[in-house]
Amino acid sequence: MNSPFRFEHTYQSLGDAFFESRIPSPVKGPGLVIFNHTLAASLGLATEGMKEGDWAQYLSGGILPPDASPIAQAYAGHQFGGFTMLGDGRAILLGEHITPEGRRFDVQLKGAGVTRYSRRGDGRATLRAMLREYVISEAMHHLGVPTSRSLAVASTGMSVYRERVHDGAVLTRIAASHLRVGTFEYVRRFLDVHALQRLVDHARQRHFPDMPAGPNTGLDLLDAVMERQIGLIVHWMRVGFIHGVMNTDNMSISGETIDYGPCAFMDEYHPGTVFSSIDNNGRYAYANQPPVAQWNLAVLAETLLPLMDDNEEAAVAKAQVVLHSFPERYLSKWLRMMTAKLGLDQVQADDRSLVDDLLKWMEGRGADFTNTFLGLEREGGLIEVYPEDAGLQAWHARWEQRLRRQPGGRDRALAIMAEVNPVRIPRNHLVESALEHAEQGDLIPMKNLVDDLSDPYRSGRRDQPFQQVPEGHARSYVTYCGT
Ligand code: AMP
Ligand code: MG
Repeated sequence: MNSPFRFEHTYQSLGDAFFESRIPSPVKGPGLVIFNHTLAASLGLATEGMKEGDWAQYLSGGILPPDASPIAQAYAGHQFGGFTMLGDGRAILLGEHITPEGRRFDVQLKGAGVTRYSRRGDGRATLRAMLREYVISEAMHHLGVPTSRSLAVASTGMSVYRERVHDGAVLTRIAASHLRVGTFEYVRRFLDVHALQRLVDHARQRHFPDMPAGPNTGLDLLDAVMERQIGLIVHWMRVGFIHGVMNTDNMSISGETIDYGPCAFMDEYHPGTVFSSIDNNGRYAYANQPPVAQWNLAVLAETLLPLMDDNEEAAVAKAQVVLHSFPERYLSKWLRMMTAKLGLDQVQADDRSLVDDLLKWMEGRGADFTNTFLGLEREGGLIEVYPEDAGLQAWHARWEQRLRRQPGGRDRALAIMAEVNPVRIPRNHLVESALEHAEQGDLIPMKNLVDDLSDPYRSGRRDQPFQQVPEGHARSYVTYCGT
């Protein structure tokens, strides 16, 4: 069989200490559960002559594409604040696929068996968790949020033991790269400054090709990664996404969302919302995501100090200038985004309080995050939904007054809002219900859900289930790691 990919392996030129060569473990009965034809086409994969069974073999790790050179990547990370050695314990990188336009993407099999970095884990993944990542990552992409993507889920024909017995599966994950803050932590802790320089140059060439090489690269890289991360977190805040496990090993240098574990979308608005069963202190709660991103960037900065200045004190001073710029840079992007959610075309002096007051009202009322903004777009506005609410009426009057101060009237405002306020998000109850069916062998609800979520901003006849959350569901939802 020819390879449907066009693989290169530039990451491996960083040196042997950066990875372990590792072939995916054999599987018993490979099958193709879901395949992303649109993504395959946009990657320019050579699909001609490829049968479903061929894909099942390649994407379960049963057979290697001839140009693959499979590895597990080494990395470390801070998990809930504590440093630890990690690495791909169940993911295997087949190679970097080059698209016909010359773009480079990692093709990684998640759940492909044990590696040197597996510690006590089995190297495997459950069908349910891999389908969940598929649905949510693809939804994120269509929402316009930078993210790794999902090419396929393949079944393995083998059982996986968690809190119960699960069907096993492998997800094919496509990402701009899997370089993480944790990759830099690994190199800084265990390798030398030359290895660090090679990693920085690799990251620069891959993700920031316009950045000049030279004595300032360490600082430039920190600044550029910060810009990407700020952009990413603002998107998460815009759609109500809670990553759930923002450890430094899950924070990509490219600024994409990676590692969909206990993540979920918020229904009722509350800044302290947490879904993850292990996040007892709310470290990764909705409203903590910006300060945590800044914390993670401080860890990245520390790894880059040797490349900022020979004098450590001077290096720290330089890094701090960049790190201290985070709050202001974040706030300005966040406010621009929030005002767009209100239909405003630019930010004016009083707009911050207009936004804050709406959020306060939503919190007090337990209003649904997504539906609140959709409610504002309705003919009668949000007050039609909450007719007795005097506080809301006062806010509404202020908002309408503010809209009158900008050109284009209501139509212009609606056009701005329609671009940033999704009609459909992967509501937790819908995702769970589709996964239940999928586990029982009925994939149709899941494929329909994926389909509905591929066009999240245009309202249509199937919107209703996306705007109704079953009573009691929003507050009781819990997600789990260890998937
Ligand atoms: P995550 O919580 O997915 O970011 O994973 C944290 C670390 O645990 C990474 O090094 C993973 O490779 C590793 N890991 C997670 N699940 C497994 C598993 N089933 N077997 C081996 N390693 C795992
Ligand atoms: Mg991870």
